[in-house]
Amino acid sequence: MSECIFCRIIKGEIPCTKVYEDNNTFAFLDLNPVNKGHTLVVPKKHSETILDTDEKTLKDLMIATKKISKAIMNSLKIKGFNIGINQFEEGGQVVPHLHIHIMPRIKNDGIKLWPQRKYESKEEMEEIAKKIKSLL
Ligand code: 5GP
Ligand code: ZN
Repeated sequence: MSECIFCRIIKGEIPCTKVYEDNNTFAFLDLNPVNKGHTLVVPKKHSETILDTDEKTLKDLMIATKKISKAIMNSLKIKGFNIGINQFEEGGQVVPHLHIHIMPRIKNDGIKLWPQRKYESKEEMEEIAKKIKSLL
C-alpha cells in the first residue's frame, strides 16, 4: 500500500471531495481552503516536484488546471485566483506529491502574497542572472 497521502486519495483509499478526473489528472478540494473552492490538481502518476515530472504529465496537469480554474470562476462567481506550487520543504511543500493549488481570490480577502526585497545593486542582479543562464 502506498504511503503517499495523495496517491491514496487518487486510489480512493482516503476520502476526498473530488471535482475532476481524467486519464492522467485528479482534482479535489483542499481541506484547509484559502477561500472556498480552493482546489488541488494532482497528476495521477506519483512525482514529487516539477523537476522529476515528465513534460507530458506537466502539460496535462496545466491543461486540467486551466479547465478547472475556469469552472471555479464561473460556478462560484470568482473574479480572480492564484495558482501556486510549493516545491520542496524549503518552498513550503508539505505533501511530497506534486500538486497545483488553485486559490480563489475575493476583493479585500486579506490574503498577502510573498514579501518583496531589493537587490544590492544592478551588478548583483546581473551576476544572479548570469549564474542562472549558465545552466540553461
Ligand atoms: P503544500 O503545502 O504541500 O503545497 O499543501 C498541501 C495541501 O494539502 C494543504 O493545503 C493541505 O490543506 C492539503 N491537504 C493535506 N492533506 C489533505 C487531505 O487529506 N485531504 C485534502 N483534501 N487536502 C489535504
Ligand atoms: Zn503520491
